[in-house]
Amino acid sequence: MKTIADKDLGMDCNFIARGETENEAIDKLKEHMETAHSEEMEKITSGKSEDQIKKEFRKYVKEE
Ligand SMILES: [Zn+2]
Repeated sequence: MKTIADKDLGMDCNFIARGETENEAIDKLKEHMETAHSEEMEKITSGKSEDQIKKEFRKYVKEE
């Protein structure tokens, strides 16, 4: 199981996204952030491509 914590991306939030694969966990976290932290998400993703965003998020993925 792969997990990625919202907290690790600087959010004041206890949400942890889980997935069978790295991509699944990242997609879930992105979805959550777009809904719950749209302003911060905009700052994090502005000017970046989908690939760059995934790369950035991948740094925080943990194996559980
Ligand atoms: Zn959150």
